[in-house]
Amino acid sequence: MEQTIDLIAHAAMRDLRAFTKRTGQPTTLELMDVAPMEHVTEIEIDEEHVTITYNEKITHRYNAKEIAKKEWSYKYNDDPEFVSAIGVVIELARKHLRDMPENAACPPGCAECCSGYEPFVSKADVQRIADHFGISYEVALDEYVVQRPSADGFSVGYLKKVTDDIASQCVFLKGSSSGRYYCGIYSARPHDCGAFTPIGCEDVDVALRHDRAFVPGLPFKRKERGSKKKVRR
Ligand code: SF4
Ligand code: SF4
Repeated sequence: MEQTIDLIAHAAMRDLRAFTKRTGQPTTLELMDVAPMEHVTEIEIDEEHVTITYNEKITHRYNAKEIAKKEWSYKYNDDPEFVSAIGVVIELARKHLRDMPENAACPPGCAECCSGYEPFVSKADVQRIADHFGISYEVALDEYVVQRPSADGFSVGYLKKVTDDIASQCVFLKGSSSGRYYCGIYSARPHDCGAFTPIGCEDVDVALRHDRAFVPGLPFKRKERGSKKKVRR
C-alpha cells in the first residue's frame, strides 16, 4: 500500500509538540499556515534578477510524468544593491523558517480581540446563533447584528457591541472579576471568530499565563424582550 508522508506537516508537528512542551501553550497543526511555504519551489538571485518560482504541481498520468507548472515570477531589477538586499532577506527567512512565533495559541481567558474587532457574520452564522437560542433568523439578526450587507451578499453585517462604541465588548463576551473572559456562545460563534488566528497577535493579554487552565462560567443568557413577539422553532 502506498503511503504519502507530508514531510512539512510532519516537521511542523514535531516543532509544535516541542514548543508546547517548552511553553505550555496548546498548539495544533491547523494553527500553522504552512501552505505558502510548501509551494515555493525555487528562488534564484543573480546581480540583476530575482526569480521566484512557486506553485509547481506535478501530476502523473499512466506512465508518463506530466508537469503542470504554475509560475509567477518576479524578475529583473537593475539595482544590484536592491537585489542583494532581497538576497539577505531571503537568507534570513530561510534561516528562521521554522522559528515559532511568540504567541502560537491564545492564553485561556484572554479574549481581548472580542473587544477590538467586529466579527462579520454570514447568513449561516446568524442561523447558527438563532438555532442556539431557539429563535428565528429574523429575531437573531435584529437582536445581535449591526446590519451592513457586503457587496457580494455574503456578509449580512457584524455582531453588535455592548455600546455604540465599536471598540467596546461583543454582546456575547462574558467575563469574571478575575479579569478573564470567555465567549458566551462558543459553540455557535461566527466563523470569523473561530478562524481568527492568535499567531503574531499583538493584543494578547500578557498578564495571563498560557499554562494555566481557565474554566469558563455560564453561557450567555438571552434577555427576553417583552415588547417583541419571539418566534420559537
Ligand atoms: S491572544 Fe489575541 S487572538 Fe487570542 S484571544 Fe487574545 S487577543 Fe484574541
Ligand atoms: S461571538 Fe464570542 S468569540 Fe466572537 S467576538 Fe463575540 S464573544 Fe468573542
